[in-house]
Amino acid sequence: MSSGKINVSVENIFPLIKKFLYSDHEIFLRELVSNATDATLKLKHLTSIGEAKVEYGNPMIEVKIDKDNKKLHIIDQGLGMTAEEVEKYINQIAFSGAEEFLEKYKDSAKDSGIIGHFGLGFYSAFMVASKVEIITKSFKDEPAAHWSCDGSPEFSLIESDKKERGTEIILHIAEDSLEFLEEFKIRELLTKYNKFMPVPIKFGTKQEALPKPEDAGDDYRTEYKEVDNIINNPNPAWTKQPTDLKEEDYKAFYHELYPMQFEEPLFNIHLNVDYPFNLTGILYFPKMSADLQIQKDKIQLYQNQVFVTDNVEGIVPEFLGMLRGVIDSPDIPLNVSRSYLQADGNVKKISNYITRKVADKLKSLFNENREDFEQKWNDIKIVLEYGMLSEPKFYEKAGDFVLYPSVDDKYYTLAELKEAITPNQTDKNGKVVVLYASNKEAQHGYIEIAKEKGYEVLLLDSPIVSHLIQKLEADNENLTFTRVDSDHIDKLIQKEEEQISKLSEEESTKLKTVLEEIVPKTTYTVQLEAMDSKAAPFIITQPEFMRRMKEMSQTGGGG
Ligand code: ADP
Ligand code: MG
Repeated sequence: MSSGKINVSVENIFPLIKKFLYSDHEIFLRELVSNATDATLKLKHLTSIGEAKVEYGNPMIEVKIDKDNKKLHIIDQGLGMTAEEVEKYINQIAFSGAEEFLEKYKDSAKDSGIIGHFGLGFYSAFMVASKVEIITKSFKDEPAAHWSCDGSPEFSLIESDKKERGTEIILHIAEDSLEFLEEFKIRELLTKYNKFMPVPIKFGTKQEALPKPEDAGDDYRTEYKEVDNIINNPNPAWTKQPTDLKEEDYKAFYHELYPMQFEEPLFNIHLNVDYPFNLTGILYFPKMSADLQIQKDKIQLYQNQVFVTDNVEGIVPEFLGMLRGVIDSPDIPLNVSRSYLQADGNVKKISNYITRKVADKLKSLFNENREDFEQKWNDIKIVLEYGMLSEPKFYEKAGDFVLYPSVDDKYYTLAELKEAITPNQTDKNGKVVVLYASNKEAQHGYIEIAKEKGYEVLLLDSPIVSHLIQKLEADNENLTFTRVDSDHIDKLIQKEEEQISKLSEEESTKLKTVLEEIVPKTTYTVQLEAMDSKAAPFIITQPEFMRRMKEMSQTGGGG
């Protein structure tokens, strides 16, 4: 048929492709399987509208290693290409894409991170192959075509005798990329990028046990048959309607997504929006400990069921970075730098949408089953508290479901708390004083004294609690938080008349002097007011503001 020179402004683009995509060269397989998937789905569409009068059947994609000949095959049963289409789509269009790449690469060379996500599509094959062949037969009644190119701008295009519809891509794996002939490597890549793609992908075969016959005797030995090894689930949960899924389905999908994760998620949030952008997904709240353990199972970002990255920074609000699950959107610009991403209006909208959706879900969980929500509080509070501090949109809604537990496991919303403590815990300036402990054991004595006086003591023990308190105080003029071991007793109006110490004045002064010798006066106060308490003969407190100053300087300033 023809041969020629690919029309491109640089002599040879391939060294460039190799060099600049090197860090991420494994994505070639994702790109080729994506093309095979597109070709299959295009055919599905054409047959459904009657434009392609062929049997669609049950097409699959096959990935095959030919180690002896150092070749990797990607075979599909999609719509195929005529010779003319190969000219058009492979020689011209793809190279205009490559030129665009060069155009983009000019001003982003400093930021090498972006190139990893720049889909060069078909031509990324040259990152690992010294020669690439395309053998393709269109669904149209035309002869098959055979294109081949050895990485220079020269290519050849001849007729082929391929009979079956579809496309076979053959990569002659380059000497420096022989790892891509290893079964485990290809399986790893398919699992990483293609696990949820919409067309079945076959990679080798596997043994499957045959059902045991009814009349099998005691000496029956399981028989096996060889079946296709399909590596993907073409219909992952997030592509379905929430109404079609049960709790078990969500849990099963969680384990499918994170096979090494044995704990159950606490709850899930199904995202499903098609206006003003397209986005689907499922987010899970995992059980979380307060020490913010570094987590490797992260939210995964997909584009039309193709894995893109698990770096969702900028797309998912930061406080939800601790969640797990998937987000799938064709509307997220993936081939641009992070700074662009953050400035992109659509991306900001997506982030806001996710925030709102998470807040709504929390509210409904709280309303539907408060008891259950309270039980989960300890495992989710760190995310929510962090969200209140970092995301104004979330803060606005948090009043509906954020809880403030007491040391006795009573859970209040902020409004409920205010109502409960106002009568008994208002200070001389008319401020409502919220007493809290940060450590139940260490502050046990103080807690007991406060309780004796009829005060409610909260247990606020998250690492970011001092920042949260600052924010709550700033936004609630007549509210002030005081830790139970600080000088609160001075501040609160005593309901009963001044209580009389059982010690004489002389004895009291003596005791105070002795104690003050042991305790550094500059930072602590000895109070004998607790004398009447059964829990403690006296208490040593520290002014709240001093403790806070110290705390803030330790946790890195205001929130
Ligand atoms: P993109 O997929 O973004 O369009 P590619 O470089 O990956 O860019 O592919 C270029 C074009 O080549 C595709 O748009 C398609 O028309 C054609 N093509 C690539 N692979 C196949 C295939 N397996 N079957 C049919 N057409 C294909
Ligand atoms: Mg492509």
